[in-house]
Amino acid sequence: MKILKFGGTSVGKPERMHSVAKLIMSGDETKLVILSALSGTTNSLVEIGQSLASGHKELAKSQIEKLRSHYDQFYQALVQTPEARKEALAIIDEHFEFLHIILKISYSEALNKDILAQGELLSTKLFRTYLKEQGVQATLIPALDFMSIDEQNEPEIPKIKKRLVTLLNQYPKEKLFITQGYICKNAKGEVDNLKRGGSDYTASLIGAALNATEIQIWTDIDGMHNNDPRIVEHTVAIHQLSFDEAAELAYFGAKILHPASIWPAQHFNIPVKLLNTMQPEAKGTVIMELPDGDGVKAIAAKDGITAIKIKSSRMLLAYGFLRKTFEVFEKYKTSIDMITTSEVAVSLTIDDITHLQGIQSDLEPFGSIEMDFDQTIISLVGNEIAATPAILKKVFDTLEPVPLRMISYGGSRHNISILIKGSQKKEALQLLNKGVFGLE
Ligand code: ASP
Ligand code: MG
Repeated sequence: MKILKFGGTSVGKPERMHSVAKLIMSGDETKLVILSALSGTTNSLVEIGQSLASGHKELAKSQIEKLRSHYDQFYQALVQTPEARKEALAIIDEHFEFLHIILKISYSEALNKDILAQGELLSTKLFRTYLKEQGVQATLIPALDFMSIDEQNEPEIPKIKKRLVTLLNQYPKEKLFITQGYICKNAKGEVDNLKRGGSDYTASLIGAALNATEIQIWTDIDGMHNNDPRIVEHTVAIHQLSFDEAAELAYFGAKILHPASIWPAQHFNIPVKLLNTMQPEAKGTVIMELPDGDGVKAIAAKDGITAIKIKSSRMLLAYGFLRKTFEVFEKYKTSIDMITTSEVAVSLTIDDITHLQGIQSDLEPFGSIEMDFDQTIISLVGNEIAATPAILKKVFDTLEPVPLRMISYGGSRHNISILIKGSQKKEALQLLNKGVFGLE
């Protein structure tokens, strides 16, 4: 069984959906295809939810109508026969009726999750209608019937596996299955989701649950690049990455893959391929167990970072200081990305500032607090790079014009992370592209 996931831009236009259909028709192996919502839909649904949460029902109504008109155009270019058009229209009617009903009910978090789920439900059903029109046999299996998370919002792979196997066994001759990314049921049995960008995570979880031969993530770029192609002009696709390298890159800002999607594939050792729907013949990136070659493979940047420095003479020769500091972040469920310490101060970074006020007031008794906003973490990733002194020298030489706020070296053997001002990110990435990769 092969798992193929197509992201929002890969299904966001009728003609792109047509190409996806062609792509999944080759080969004999049984396939399970996961679709995201059409690009832009989840964002619109988020806005509708926000309008409802703040009591702006009229605004929500007009946002729903705007989204509806997008689908009205979409389906007419997607399918042509009267039967297929009738079916597509009925699907759209059903989901937009649901949104209109929600307008009349009082808002809750649980209801919002229902709103967010409409995108993937629509895309998969419309896709199946198109396949049917084309005479392609496929079975749609509802993600809400097997994908689940527990009380801690963690996916339950053994349960997912059991339900999924039972479902698939009902169709022993089927070669093509379709399902929704992103959506799931939570421990209360309500509709929930795997967070934004979570369709990659769905693919990886299904791949793990079914012990798939491979997981293909199809997007609109030919794999993971050595540097951010939106910022640096000359970047190249990386052909191979280890799971560890890919996890660091995804976590530290490479947008192509949801960071949580690495561990299930890694745990069950299932190769992940990053491929391009617009250029299906391109090699893309393969992520697998063992690293291939040494040196820096890629650089990623994570924006919107806040650096917090806690300075205290009481830290001098004291023990337990770090524990107390960390407990504050634990209390506010805020994860720390980078950390450096000296005898009298500890600096650390966070990217989620939802609870910053509480964190600050809880830290104040420990010493003086300094905060720097709009920082960027630049991460260099590659097998054993933190054990290769020449690389560090090259990085420092290259970044001479850019003041470095923090450096993390040796925390992992595959990563060197540097904190700089967000306003200097572009300059830093460009310098590194030349200095480290020799690309101009
Ligand atoms: N549609 C969801 C989102 O936009 C999930 C995904 O595309 O991966 O976040
Ligand atoms: Mg994505």
